Amino acid sequence: MSGHSLISAARAAKRPALDEQAGKSLLAEFGVVVPRSAAVNDAAGVDAVFARLIAPLVVKIMSPDILHKSDAGGVKVGLKSASEVRNAINAMASSPKIKGARIDGYLIEEMAPAGQEIVIGGLHDPQFGQLVMVGLGGIFVEVLADVSFRICPITRLDAQEMLDDLKGAAILAGARGRKAVSRDAIIDVLLKVGGENGLLMQHADDIAEADINPLIVSENSAVAVDARFILSKNNE
Ligand code: ADP
Ligand code: MG
Repeated sequence: MSGHSLISAARAAKRPALDEQAGKSLLAEFGVVVPRSAAVNDAAGVDAVFARLIAPLVVKIMSPDILHKSDAGGVKVGLKSASEVRNAINAMASSPKIKGARIDGYLIEEMAPAGQEIVIGGLHDPQFGQLVMVGLGGIFVEVLADVSFRICPITRLDAQEMLDDLKGAAILAGARGRKAVSRDAIIDVLLKVGGENGLLMQHADDIAEADINPLIVSENSAVAVDARFILSKNNE
């Protein structure tokens, strides 16, 4: 499905946001790398898709009622066999925080190569229009609010400056014995999201908020492992 049809389908279903799978399809359409994945309705569906994916795998709950999947026990990483995947799904289905929710299914996906977690976001400002944001993941964003914003569309130079603006920029270069991660891969995603022909500009009328959290950046890749797009209200 194209981005426009994914958005229309969500609107037709009266959903305020794209689900994770639709969000990742939208990112993939703009050339952002997302994990290979398959969705199943329940544990019985696992055998049909397991052989097509390369373990270790991740299972995630897909529910319009659950925004923070990990908090609800709805993410399980590092699953090596079909039976581990089935067990994870069954455990989720019976966990208290998930039981009462509307469940669309379970997303089974490949693990991204290990790396630094980055956040890339977007939001619509009534005065300035689409804004794009980048920050380092985890406590850097949540506790230290170490983020950098620009008005879209951004240029390559803007994207470079956004990374230089971060107080934790040295982390990307491999501070404290860690491996350096690919700045170019992050810049590339920033342009695909916030650049001239990027996702936020192309879908400016429909997207009120975007949140890629995290983008996992390694030495030579950047993979968007979680994506959420909130649709604007004034365009139904
Ligand atoms: P939520 O933010 O709703 O709790 P995420 O999809 O972000 O759920 O998953 C939670 C965490 O699990 C991520 O921040 C990341 O550390 C890890 N994770 C999720 N999907 C993958 C993946 N495909 N590869 C590697 N790690 C992953
Ligand atoms: Mg997340």
